[in-house]
Amino acid sequence: MYINGERVSAASGDTFEVTNPATGEVIGRVPDGAASDATAAIDAAADAATAWAGTPPFARADLLHTAWQLMLDRADDLAGLMTTEQGKPLRASKAEVIYGADFLRWFAEEARRIEGAWLTSGRADQRFLQTHAPVGVVAAITPWNYPISMLTRKMGPALAAGCTMVLKPAEATPLCAQAVIDVFEDAGFPPGVVNLVTTGDPKPVGDVFTGDPRVRKLTFTGSTAVGRVLAGKAASNLQRVSVELGGHAPFIVFPDADPVHAAKGAAALKFLNSGQACISPNRLYVHDSAQQAFIDTIVPRVEKISVGVGTTDGVKVGPLINEAAVAKVEAQVEDARAKGAAVPVGGRRVTDGDLAAGHFYAPTILNNVTDDMAIYREETFGPVAPVITYDDVDTVIEAANDTNYGLAAYVYTSDLKTAMRAVEGLKFGIIGVNDVNPTSATVPFGGMNDSGLGREGGHEGLAEYLETKVAGFAL
Ligand code: NAP
Repeated sequence: MYINGERVSAASGDTFEVTNPATGEVIGRVPDGAASDATAAIDAAADAATAWAGTPPFARADLLHTAWQLMLDRADDLAGLMTTEQGKPLRASKAEVIYGADFLRWFAEEARRIEGAWLTSGRADQRFLQTHAPVGVVAAITPWNYPISMLTRKMGPALAAGCTMVLKPAEATPLCAQAVIDVFEDAGFPPGVVNLVTTGDPKPVGDVFTGDPRVRKLTFTGSTAVGRVLAGKAASNLQRVSVELGGHAPFIVFPDADPVHAAKGAAALKFLNSGQACISPNRLYVHDSAQQAFIDTIVPRVEKISVGVGTTDGVKVGPLINEAAVAKVEAQVEDARAKGAAVPVGGRRVTDGDLAAGHFYAPTILNNVTDDMAIYREETFGPVAPVITYDDVDTVIEAANDTNYGLAAYVYTSDLKTAMRAVEGLKFGIIGVNDVNPTSATVPFGGMNDSGLGREGGHEGLAEYLETKVAGFAL
């Protein structure tokens, strides 16, 4: 772990294993931190808070810029580590490192623009000054599916704003978090500004984060169930909360879209990170006039996707994170099959040869999916594309909105009016219009309803870590 600028063991001396999900091999051991370690990390962050908040934004920006550059210099090594620990193919790991680093550059630039205002008053003898201050100590809890960028998407804005941090990464990917800490240490961030607690038992650490009044903000990315619990606990201390949670993205192919282009987009998007992405399409609504061309295009493409260990050349889909993830996908596919879905490709575990030691599931298309199937409502987090055929253009937006989630949605159309109506009508925080990657460090990322509270990235990302202050001046 990393507390107050020092590498430390857990107070108990305990450790836990980290395994490669593609091979089952143990690839490392990390400290198994507990409540007392979380408190020590908060002590360090609280002690460093005043000096860091008083560090000029230009100096904070320079450190973030250095971290950005270091992360790019180390991109190949970081990508190799990520593939071994999390499973995604090397190319995807490298893309994530670059995406993750981009948040450091963006927020380095934003740090210089923490602005205020000089405001008028109804009183002739009064003026107002509005300024911003860092919220204070931030506790961050992150998932395993994007083990580097989910950290930097929080570290960039928090550190730019002048907050100090305690981080708790996912149990499955602590080695990536340690490598991120190396970057920040080597960039020259002062002791105590970022602290890392690893643990195999997240609840006691989470309880310290939400129970310590010195923590002024909790930022969480993960499942809706855990985010809801943590937000409830944080409320008792009136901590600010950002929770980036699950999704159930619709992907709508309108009758005026090119179905071949849409199918190529769906095939490229759905199987990224083996479908383990909060913005992965989970319901593909294809108009009945486009359905045949869509299926005829996507099925052969999916058949050709190479599944395997992410370090092997040509592999496009790696393992799922663990056995529970494979079992969940398997259960959803079997439920859909039993209720009448066709499975033109995939629909099985992959256990050929050495892959039997890992957690692999074949890229799968489900056709004729209906709203009584579990996959229609539950987040899948696996390489399965459920296709739903529709015939009524006027009600498809309503169907797409029929979910408690509200993170990402995608529409394919060649008609500007249809696109505009869809963007206005869809109750989702992120919408791709003929676009399979509507994300960037420059724009806010986040969802509505059960997909969370708050935004990361863009200008909004920084605002999440700033208090507003007003000073009235009597003249
Ligand atoms: P998760 O089970 O909720 O875990 C997320 C993090 O919370 C992990 O670090 C986990 O630690 C920790 N945690 C679990 N229970 C806790 C507790 N009681 N107290 C404190 N911390 C606790 O989610 P996941 O399976 O890792 O991630 C997948 C989910 O993340 C999906 O639902 C996905 O949609 C969502 N996600 C959302 C976004 C977004 O931006 N909206 C981005 C990526 C992922 P352990 O690892 O030790 O369990």
